[in-house]
Formats: sequence, structure tokens, C-alpha cells
Amino acid sequence: MSLLDKLDVVAAARKALLPEGLEVFGTPIEEVYSATEARVGDRRILFLGTNNYLGLTFAPECLQAAHEALDKEGTGTTGSRMANGSYSGHRALEREFADFYHCHSGIVFTTGYQANLAMISGLAGAGDVVLIDGDSHASIYDGCRLSGAEIIRFRHNDVADMEKRLRRLGERSRSTLIVAEGIYSMLGDQAPLAEIVSIKNAYNSILLLDEAHSLGVLGKTGQGLVEETGLIDGVDFITGTFSKSLGSIGGYCVSNHPQLDQLRYISRPYIFTASPSPATIASARAALKLLRDGTELRRQLWQNSRQLYARLKALGYQLGPQPGPVIANILDSPQQALMLWKGLLDHGIYVNLILPPAAPEGKALVRCSVSAAHTSEQMDHVGDVFAELRKSIFQ
Ligand code: PMP
Repeated sequence: MSLLDKLDVVAAARKALLPEGLEVFGTPIEEVYSATEARVGDRRILFLGTNNYLGLTFAPECLQAAHEALDKEGTGTTGSRMANGSYSGHRALEREFADFYHCHSGIVFTTGYQANLAMISGLAGAGDVVLIDGDSHASIYDGCRLSGAEIIRFRHNDVADMEKRLRRLGERSRSTLIVAEGIYSMLGDQAPLAEIVSIKNAYNSILLLDEAHSLGVLGKTGQGLVEETGLIDGVDFITGTFSKSLGSIGGYCVSNHPQLDQLRYISRPYIFTASPSPATIASARAALKLLRDGTELRRQLWQNSRQLYARLKALGYQLGPQPGPVIANILDSPQQALMLWKGLLDHGIYVNLILPPAAPEGKALVRCSVSAAHTSEQMDHVGDVFAELRKSIFQ
């Protein structure tokens, strides 16, 4: 099969699954009105599928900081930090992230995807092992591939399975990197961090925790699962993204290991890509301050999440194991998921559709992302629409 024929197979598979004219992936968003509202086609929609957990994309402090940086430093850095230099904003944000986590140091990356790629491929190499949860985000899988290390998966959140696999490695557990996520992006559940930390200590491995979905969401000051559980000292490297609760673009890693800095000299996803633009760094810095002081935002986020989770559960939807910023409806078939997704959009509610193979265990997901910027009335309305669709689609 030629290279182009392979792409025709992709097109045919997509056509077979999705009705003509329905732009499920990359839905065109014509206008954005606020952190929670936009226009798709000629319909005003409620965003329930953006990871804007604290609703900060229109925070005046973030907008102003971005405008000022744009005016002072221009639209882009046009190069990588290693070759073209680090702007003061990059260095300041690294210090601010390290201080936020009370850690020795931090590195800022161009995206959260690249943070995982850079960290995993920088830490592990040929002959080493990366032990990952089966539900890991694509950036973790891709980081493993780039590393050249042996990749071993354990069943999602199954610490007994994780330990069994470490035990089998014998002495090699010392050159093993374990990777987990604070809140998992697919089902919205949290990692059993206490057990993971005690096992990694027993086997002298290294632990990297991706707090992409838990930054700003868990813990008193929003550090993530490390703060919620009080286990920060048990985690070697914390990664995360600016693209969710910080409402910007970029990624970070913080650590108490002074060796972190050496990753700058060996990690290809850090060296060979342009650094984040001044405006994205400036808005992320402003958002980090709001996030740290954002107790009220976290309270509102959790109230919205619990309200919607309880309503959907009572309606009989099959959900991920616990409430959180991600509420996943698990459907048995892609067709059911598609009908639910389309029904919600027809009622002005925009959510994420996740089809196999992206969804775990061959299921399909309709994933809602809750924000502190949503109101309790909006959660009620979303619940009412889910109730109506339950009758029309599933009965
Ligand atoms: N880690 C996880 C768990 C994620 O869900 C994502 C994004 N969906 C990323 C990393 C990558 O973040 P970014 O969007 O900044 O590339």
C-alpha cells in the first residue's frame, strides 16, 4: 500500500463511523464570547469540553499581562532557548513554579506534551525501563518511544499489578522510571499516590507525576495531587501544562533533584523547538498567581463537578469512578456516544467525544469538563438536557 493509500484508509474508516457533514473532531468554533460560551455554526453554545478548569482565559489580570508582553517583546521568540536565548519571562516563570512547589528548580517547556516527551526521554534511555499506567496520556507513551527504553504497562490504577511488574525486574527496578497522572484525562479518576510512592521507595525507582489535570484543582494552593495527599517529597519529578487551569499554552517540570537542570542539555523536545511566546508566558505567570490564591475558584469548580456528577449518576449514566474536573460518560458503542454528543450539541452544549482506540478498553466516551466559571444554574440545565437525551436515545 502506498503512503497516500494509507491515508485513504483513514478517511474511509472515519466516513464509515461519522455521518456526512458532522464535524465531530476539530469542530469549528466561530466566535468565543467568554470562558464558557461561544458560537458553533449559528448556535450559541455552552462550553463543557474545554479544560478551562478555573475559567481564567478571560481573567483581566492575564489579558493585561499578555497585552503588555506582546507590546514589549513581540509576537514570538522565533527560536529555541538553547540556541537563541532565554527571555526574562521564561526564567521568572521557572523560578515561580519552583517556589510554588517549594522545589529546588523548574523548567518551562513549549507545551505540556513536550514536557512529558522531554522528561521521559531525558531520564530514561536504552537499557532502562519506563513503567506506566495503561491509561496514560499519549504524551507519556510518545515520551517512552522517544526514550528507547523498555516500556512496561500496568493495569490502570492497579498497584498490585504495578508491584508485580517491578518485582519481576529485579535489579533493573533501580533504573526504572514510574509514570502516573494526578487526575487521569480519560476517566477523571486520581492515582493511588500513597501506594505508588511506597512501592517506588521499596524498589528504589524514580517517580514522575503528571499533574496536567490536577494543577489548580487539587490541594489547598492548587499544586495538585501531591498537595492533596501531602506526598510531594515522595515524587521525584512533577510535570504539568499551562493549557488547562492556567488558560495559556506551555508545560513545566519541577523537582528537588538538582540534576533536573541537565535535562536542558540532552532533551531534544526542549532543545529543538521554539520557546513559548512572551504573551503566553506572561498570561501563565499572571494565572499562576490567581491559581495559588484561587481557593474560591476551586470551591466553585468542585461544587459544579459534584452537582453534575450526582445528577448524571442518578439518571443512570455510567461514569468514571469519582467526580472531578473531568466527568466521563462511558458508552458501550461509538454510535451511542455519537448520538449523545450530537444531541448535546443540538441543545447548545459542547462536550468532547472520544472514540476507540483513544478511549480505554474499546469503550467510547462523552467527556464533560467542568469549570469554576460555570454557574449552578448551568449545571442544572446540562443535567436537564442529559435527562431528556437519556429518554430519547437509551429507551
Ligand atoms: N498530560 C496530560 C495528562 C494531558 O491530558 C495533556 C493534554 N491533554 C498533556 C499532558 C499535554 O498538555 P498540552 O496540551 O500542554 O500539550
